[in-house]
Amino acid sequence: MGELSRQSEESFPSVHRIHAVTALIHVHTTLSDGRASVEEVARTAAASGVEVVVLTDHDRSLAGPRWVEGVLLVAGSEASPRHNHLILVGGGRPPARPPEEDPEGDMAAELARARAAGAWTALAHPLDPALPLVSSSRSFVALDLAAGVEADGLELWNAMSAFKRGLDSPWLGLGRVLMPGRYLAGPDPVVLALWDTVGRRRCWPAFAGADAHGFSSGRAWLPVRIYSYRRHMRLLTTGLWLERPFTGRAEADQELVISALRAGRAYCVLGRARGFTCRLRGPEGRVWLPGAELAYRPGLEVEVELPARGWARLVCHGRPVVQGWGRRFRWPVEGPGVWRLEVFRRRWPGGLRPWIYCNPFYLREG
Ligand SMILES: [Zn+2]
Ligand SMILES: [Zn+2]
Repeated sequence: MGELSRQSEESFPSVHRIHAVTALIHVHTTLSDGRASVEEVARTAAASGVEVVVLTDHDRSLAGPRWVEGVLLVAGSEASPRHNHLILVGGGRPPARPPEEDPEGDMAAELARARAAGAWTALAHPLDPALPLVSSSRSFVALDLAAGVEADGLELWNAMSAFKRGLDSPWLGLGRVLMPGRYLAGPDPVVLALWDTVGRRRCWPAFAGADAHGFSSGRAWLPVRIYSYRRHMRLLTTGLWLERPFTGRAEADQELVISALRAGRAYCVLGRARGFTCRLRGPEGRVWLPGAELAYRPGLEVEVELPARGWARLVCHGRPVVQGWGRRFRWPVEGPGVWRLEVFRRRWPGGLRPWIYCNPFYLREG
């Protein structure tokens, strides 16, 4: 186990002044192969109650963050060789990929360039499947996971990967096109296992990605619009707990977003979960937010408040430990481990649909 940083060992000082925002992360625009301009994306976000959009055009980015239509546009990009994609947030423009580099992508080299440019990095859609039965459909899997897990963060749940995963019947396909909020797949279990495994070694903050392009045609395997930007705004978003409200100055506000991502003060959500809280409380009244890493001590409890009834479970090292239906939960944490929360909702006519995947509390051996 590495040394615990002083900051993460401290309880969050102003937990009652935490400022929750909804972010749409991983968005392509007309700067690369997306169908909407930056301004159109901002307008759609504003109309949908999304406060932050992280723009991630392929190998290019905005000159810097901007406030447009009351929406903070964060300047990011997606390093997009044939494989091994990375999400980059903030920082300067990384130097171009040298022509002699492996066209499949050299994850370690991409990471080094992004870090030299000061960006926060994340492994994008590590297991993006091809569409079954569509011969022209491509998959985008990370070929070099050993280097990929060295990225600062993880795109745990990608809307396009979730659209394609396990798509084994035309009815399910229709359901995912028309009612994705109800039928979209959850994060890939293999990616969840990777996340839990890396979490034993270090904090690996995760978020949900839209991978929004607004494609309507032009790709044989995507004959319909999967999905419009408007649809994405209510599909897979990331809830961020900022340490203070936005200032209106784009550079400073982008730093607030990056610091929440870096700290893992974030949860992935299908639909909305405004008012959702998940906290760790110590016997002496100290409170930590998700993403915190601290030494395990007896008497810790996880407190959860949901905006609506759901089926919640507390997972340790990938295994459910305690679960139940309700809106409020208070569960003791009985040992060190990577503890995180998953919440599901009822899906008509039967079964459960994924709702919330929250970043873990990393409780290390004392
Ligand atoms: Zn990609
Ligand atoms: Zn993308």
